[in-house]
Amino acid sequence: MLDALSKSFFHALARSKTLEHMASRYGMARPTSFARRFIVGETADEAIAGARAIQSKGMLLTLDQLGESITTLSEAEAATKVYIALIEKILAAGIDRNISVKPTQLGLDIDSAVCIDNIKRILDLASRHEFFVRIDMENTPYIQKTLDMFTSVWAQGYRNTGVVLQSAVFRSEDDAKAVSKLGARVRLVKGAYKEPAAVAFQAKSDVDKAFIRIMKVLLTEGHYPAIATHDPAMLDATKAFAASTGIAKDAYEFQMLYGIRRDLQAALVAGGYRMRVYVPFGKQWFPYFMRRLGERPANVGFVLKGILGER
Ligand SMILES: Cc1cc2nc3c(=O)[nH]c(=O)nc-3n(C[C@H](O)[C@H](O)[C@H](O)COP(=O)(O)OP(=O)(O)OC[C@H]3O[C@@H](n4cnc5c(N)ncnc54)[C@H](O)[C@@H]3O)c2cc1C
Repeated sequence: MLDALSKSFFHALARSKTLEHMASRYGMARPTSFARRFIVGETADEAIAGARAIQSKGMLLTLDQLGESITTLSEAEAATKVYIALIEKILAAGIDRNISVKPTQLGLDIDSAVCIDNIKRILDLASRHEFFVRIDMENTPYIQKTLDMFTSVWAQGYRNTGVVLQSAVFRSEDDAKAVSKLGARVRLVKGAYKEPAAVAFQAKSDVDKAFIRIMKVLLTEGHYPAIATHDPAMLDATKAFAASTGIAKDAYEFQMLYGIRRDLQAALVAGGYRMRVYVPFGKQWFPYFMRRLGERPANVGFVLKGILGER
């Protein structure tokens, strides 16, 4: 209940332009500014420097150029070009070839066909250089459209891509089976959005139970699944299930967000597990940042400390 309230509250605040304006002024201004805890930087160069530091700790990474819910096709075109430039920068930098993209950033909300063309332009360049492109999952109105887009590019022969499924959402267990049958890779998450009771579990205990059910489907029927969570109970359940069914540590990977549970990230690497960090960067960091606050209201404390410290 508290989880749901906190998510709703922070998702409402995320729509405030005044707050966004104020946060943008202070959040990333200095090397110690509060938003830098979750966002590596505003430029690709900062992201690449952060990525190198992560790789030096024996971790894998995926870079995410922040931005979502654009409203014109020219913005979708600009976002596509930004991703193409990012792939070229990653190639030149020699870091892990893995990016995450949001469908609404590429125009899903405006024109699905244009969005498919945009993702194909990214995948064409990516596949020439053995990149993996993860298509992030947004809130429930986009799930079917995102999976349609994904199955369309998969049917056209693109294999260097995968999707995300959210355990909070009722349909995800069936989707996990269908995507696994296709032969594609899934990242399993709990779900970052506030969803209505008609389509998603509301109690954390139900979301967690579904996470474990879907994790088992993906580990047994899936293809190199990514188990993306900071929840020690989910990590333990995954490790125990893999060990008891003889699934090797390199047959799947764990993923966590930049700046969250760095202790657990290091412990997984020390335990010989594959650990990929999701590294977001860019000027449009505000909605992503607010989702992180909504997941753990205690984060507001360190944000306030940061703001007061900077004035
Ligand atoms: C690599 C990755 C990619 C993701 N991609 C997507 C996506 O495409 N679509 C989507 O809907 N969601 C995505 N998410 C977000 C996900 O859905 C959850 O909202 C988020 O991971 C929090 O859930 P949890 O599994 O960590 O468990 P929770 O039960 O929320 O948290 C478990 C514990 O983790 C720690 N923790 C969790 N969140 C925070 C935080 N913000 N700050 C500090 N500590 C925290 C706390 O110790 C908490 O007790 C992604 C998450 C990861 C790790």
